[in-house]
Amino acid sequence: MRKPKVDQTLCIGNEACVTIVPLVFKRNKEGKAYVVDSRGKDEETINYVIKQCPSQTISWV
Ligand code: SF4
Repeated sequence: MRKPKVDQTLCIGNEACVTIVPLVFKRNKEGKAYVVDSRGKDEETINYVIKQCPSQTISWV
């Protein structure tokens, strides 16, 4: 099963991903997003988040 991944070197910390699916994405102390747990979220929702990320930081692995 594919999982979303955040490239923290590109993340600008605008929280779009965290706002849309807070159970999947969180921000670390530096304000960079990371994936907590993507189980239970359909790919359509994650694909929507990927499109909303302004720095195109989220990808599938
Ligand atoms: S939407 Fe993109 S740029 Fe914004 S916090 Fe999430 S990963 Fe970072």
